[in-house]
Amino acid sequence: MTLMDVSSYAAGDWVKPGAGARNIASAVTGEVIATAGNDSLDVQAMLDHAHTVGGPALRKMTFHERAKMLKALGQYLSEHKQALYDISFATGATQGDHGFDIDGGIGTLFVFASKGRRELPDGHVLLDGDVEQFSRNGTFLGQHIYTPMRGVAVHINAYNFPVWGMLEKLAPTLLAGVPAIVKPATATSYVTEHCVRLMLESGLLPEGAVQFVAGGTGDLLDRLTCQDSVSFTGSADTALQLRSTRAILANAVRFTAEADSLNASILAPDAEPGTPEFDLFVKEVQREMTVKAGQKCTAIRRIIAPETHVEAVIDALRERLAKTVIGDPAAEGTRMGALVSTGQRADVLDKIAVLGTEAERVIGDPDNFEVVGADRDKGAFLPPMLYHCAEPDRATKVHETEAFGPVSTIMGYRDLDHAIDLANRGQGSLVVSLISNDPATARQVALGAGAYHGRIYINNRTSMKESTGHGAPLPHMIHGGPGRAGGGEEMGGVRGVKHFMQRTAIQGSPEMIQAIGQEFVPGSNPRPAPAHPFTRTFTELEIGETITTEQREVTLEDIEHFADFTGDTFYAHMDDDAAKRNPFFPGRVAHGYLLLSFAAGLFVDPDEGPVLANTGLDNLRFMQPVPAGDSIHVRLTVKKKTRRTDEYGEVRWHVMILNQDDAPVAQYELLTMNAY
Ligand code: NAP
Repeated sequence: MTLMDVSSYAAGDWVKPGAGARNIASAVTGEVIATAGNDSLDVQAMLDHAHTVGGPALRKMTFHERAKMLKALGQYLSEHKQALYDISFATGATQGDHGFDIDGGIGTLFVFASKGRRELPDGHVLLDGDVEQFSRNGTFLGQHIYTPMRGVAVHINAYNFPVWGMLEKLAPTLLAGVPAIVKPATATSYVTEHCVRLMLESGLLPEGAVQFVAGGTGDLLDRLTCQDSVSFTGSADTALQLRSTRAILANAVRFTAEADSLNASILAPDAEPGTPEFDLFVKEVQREMTVKAGQKCTAIRRIIAPETHVEAVIDALRERLAKTVIGDPAAEGTRMGALVSTGQRADVLDKIAVLGTEAERVIGDPDNFEVVGADRDKGAFLPPMLYHCAEPDRATKVHETEAFGPVSTIMGYRDLDHAIDLANRGQGSLVVSLISNDPATARQVALGAGAYHGRIYINNRTSMKESTGHGAPLPHMIHGGPGRAGGGEEMGGVRGVKHFMQRTAIQGSPEMIQAIGQEFVPGSNPRPAPAHPFTRTFTELEIGETITTEQREVTLEDIEHFADFTGDTFYAHMDDDAAKRNPFFPGRVAHGYLLLSFAAGLFVDPDEGPVLANTGLDNLRFMQPVPAGDSIHVRLTVKKKTRRTDEYGEVRWHVMILNQDDAPVAQYELLTMNAY
């Protein structure tokens, strides 16, 4: 096999391995297959390139343009994923494992692309919360906004997910408008490098948006400024070392860590042997122990079962794990491949020796197991191993030692509070799962264990067919955990995008706030529409453009006609005495829906024009009743515009219904689709 050169992509050029390069061995054969690293990599040039080329190019794009770019990138990688599968087998991963890493990574791009289009504005500023009013006349307001950080996001990843690990960080970063320097773990960097090459070849990314470091980062972290950030995934020791870098502390560089985690899974008291939940529990544990040969930060390290069922769980796991075919990850029948390296295997052997001081091995023998289609001694193979800890209250090592391989420890609990206490002994984990069919148990665990966990995964007979698995972080949900898990948070949809943006409190007059946020702010000077807004195209309409309609009187006949026509004869509209007894009404009043209908009748322009459809109405409030004899009129204002397709965009209108005294009686936001 020819040796792969894992090159860095720095300031627009590929830089081959050079002085200080490290060899990388195949997880399966132990042969050296690649070399990575170059001590003379110019990291300052990389930072400058991101600051001066990548950042400005990304910031010029709107959120929607960046979301479209992510979608196209996902499609491009999907078309080329076979190449990534082929190259990934050497990391010890099976085809099933590629589903998590490669397909999972691409899926993350798609989720962020779609969230970007649906949940972020078609602009450059993200508003946070509502306008705050400080003064009586509303001439001085407040609004929180997010804008992209003007530096670079440094992503340092662990070896176990060379593709997903990069893409789950890259998607929110690029969507935020921030360039990244990606540094994967050297052991599997050849896979990440291939993925980066594909992304750059696609031509979809602006130059400087993504750069890549193979091997060490030199003094990159010492050069970071207050506009840069570091997102780290790896061991707690490395996290501590890196977050203590002087420049990071001195410049308050944002540092997010996803580190070790002693995740637990709780078999609830109701999930007795013979129930669907018991079988489900055994299946989830077996899967978590064997997927990626247990090298998953979210894998179940501690199995917490009722004392009375510990034996039954061990027996069931023994039966299931016996079917695990270990061997050549590329072979079809293989259920579990190799660990990433013989070094990692040695580390796991050291860690199980520690576990062995407090727990007894009841399944699996590292010195005696079968490997199919590969050399057991040359590759980094291990069997699934289960430990039983008989005294989990006295034990400490089983709650703090992460054997990053196919290893888990089972322990018994007396009651649910005890189970929660044991789960929390991990001192902060990425995930705890609960297998139970009892909602009260779920509530007790959520309240008792929530503070110690980033995610709580609950599964039962109802959700098991569609559930995504204890170990799978989803781009929609946050991934991270307190304490030992690093104290970080990633993904979580738009929450993850905000990690790469600065929140700023803006204070000023309504016009200032409106100009910055590109959304109508009530109180800003009305901008009279030059023609009826329904006759103006999406492009022609301007934020703040307003019309005020004629008045219309609401008569008792209107109210009775509406009641008769719709069948809504609620007493407040029909019975004056009864309405008066109600604290809200002066007597019979118009239906709220009648007012909405009259409002539409007042502001709609009837002819065929750029308004294609009314697609909804948000935030409706009825503020004051309208008795018969009152008159209403409408103030209709363009609040926000969002491009949706190549043919039309969404216009959000601020609609205010006022009475004859100009007092507001109802307010809402109307959505229409308008042709460009
Ligand atoms: P690691 O040894 O801590 O390495 C993590 C990353 O840090 C690698 O890219 C490594 O690069 C880099 N690194 C190490 N020293 C550095 C330095 N001085 N400057 C800059 N970068 C440096 O962890 P690992 O062995 O790759 O991964 C296994 C660990 O990661 C496990 O403990 C696991 O729990 C954890 N993990 C956590 C999550 C999570 O989301 N919480 C996910 C996956 C894994 P080199 O490879 O070049 O040394």
